[in-house]
Amino acid sequence: MAQQEEVFKKLVSHCKEYGFVFPSSEIYDGLGAVYDYGQNGVELKNNIKRYWWDSMTLLNDNVVGIDSAIFMHPTIWKASGHVDAFNDPLIDNKDSKKRYRADVLIEEQLAKYDDKIDKEVEKAAKKFGDAFDEQKFRETNPRVLENAAKKTELHTRFAKALNDNNLDELRQIIVDYEIVCPVSGTRNWTEVRQFNLMFATEMGSTADGALKIYLRPETAQGIFVNFLNVQKSGRMKIPFGIAQIGKAFRNEIVARQFIFRMREFEQMEMQFFVRPGEELAWFEKWKQTRIGWHKALGLGDKKYRFHDHDKLAHYANAATDIEFEMPFGFKEVEGIHSRTDFDLGSHEKYSGKKMQYFDPELNKSYTPYVIETSIGVDRMFLSVLAASYHEEELEGGDTRVVLQLPPALAPVKLGILPLVKKDGLPEKALEIMNDLKFEFQCQYDEKDSIGKRYRRQDAIGTPYCITIDHDTLVDNQVTIRHRDTMQQERVPIVDVEAIIREKVSLKVLLNKIPS
Ligand code: ATP
Repeated sequence: MAQQEEVFKKLVSHCKEYGFVFPSSEIYDGLGAVYDYGQNGVELKNNIKRYWWDSMTLLNDNVVGIDSAIFMHPTIWKASGHVDAFNDPLIDNKDSKKRYRADVLIEEQLAKYDDKIDKEVEKAAKKFGDAFDEQKFRETNPRVLENAAKKTELHTRFAKALNDNNLDELRQIIVDYEIVCPVSGTRNWTEVRQFNLMFATEMGSTADGALKIYLRPETAQGIFVNFLNVQKSGRMKIPFGIAQIGKAFRNEIVARQFIFRMREFEQMEMQFFVRPGEELAWFEKWKQTRIGWHKALGLGDKKYRFHDHDKLAHYANAATDIEFEMPFGFKEVEGIHSRTDFDLGSHEKYSGKKMQYFDPELNKSYTPYVIETSIGVDRMFLSVLAASYHEEELEGGDTRVVLQLPPALAPVKLGILPLVKKDGLPEKALEIMNDLKFEFQCQYDEKDSIGKRYRRQDAIGTPYCITIDHDTLVDNQVTIRHRDTMQQERVPIVDVEAIIREKVSLKVLLNKIPS
């Protein structure tokens, strides 16, 4: 774990050093859990968004996009349940004065049992070598079984407390399991209280009687309230989906772990409207499609797992998270929820406007059911970076830091490097760049040795570099260098565009997603 924390620290400083992510308002000492994306970060982020958007709107002819406003009528948040129920249970440690989410403290305790089990398995695997039967070991080893039983016991108690909304019981669990504050190391806890996560502001001047409005805590409601607008203007037939990418705001209690938990972040959400009764089949279908979308990136299939919810939200009849193995453990990146007809039904009630769909095949009207896929852009960004960051030992004792980003997501696709800064090589390099820049993001670099320039491109994840040397002026060929293998090959300039395009185009990724 300590080693993973070390890697995480390095990743955070790498993000700053190479223009991916900066703390917001840094010259004023920053602003808690708010971050800015730099010149490389914004490109990577845009590529992630493009990958998601195209997978939704190009690959599904029944999914269309919208871009709704952040400010919305405040009654929307009453109807959605956010005013009354968008709370987290918070607890303070009286010694360190640090604030925590009670549920997260307990989840961390649960994860400790998994860690203990994994350690036993690892130890035994080493001891028994090839003869090791992991499944049998997990089913029979007394220490594994003891920890599994402890985990189940805590899990059952925790799930019940959450479902009953029993704050006293959450505190009691923390006390009974002797959970300590990671900062002070003490068990001097306050009561557990509910805390609403929405940011409120005012619209209009106070003289007019200003309206209290909220910064949206999710983009989904902008989709629900536009359901009929899109259905009618696009003549959409059920089943169909509406996708949206946009900012969301939550006044998170505990906002550590870099861009994993931010107060201002971005979501990519898709609400898929279906016939009542068909929602669970669609839920399964979207689960498979979404995990396929993640795995197509090639970051490692073992890094993903589904985690079904212990406590279903008030609107859901099925829910799962796609978790990714971050440097600080498996964490939610995306939620997939079967939201029933709760949202449309509730907006119908609060607005007094019908939110129904007339199904010509069934010859009747109904309130559609909804499957939601909801993924955080920033968490996705973090997972891609964490899986791509590698420190490599090279021959001759050298080391390099390389971001092995999926080529389609890389901020820069092609580094263009004249071998020397003279003899007409820069001119030739710029000529090539001026041709290719219409196709993909290129970066020209003539400063320092070629080795140093390769390292700089490795550090930002550029999948290919071309070097223009004296022979280029004669034979119109360049050397392409591959980021991951560091292998080099000589190719004609006229072929460069096609070679690179084939490797970096989104199409390659989109093709890998199961339909
Ligand atoms: P968590 O349990 O971690 O607080 P959540 O279950 O509240 O997350 P959802 O409401 O399902 O999250 O939001 C959908 C997605 O939005 C999440 O899977 C996550 O990727 C992203 N997200 C939610 N909150 C944040 C945040 N504070 N910072 C960054 N991304 C977030």
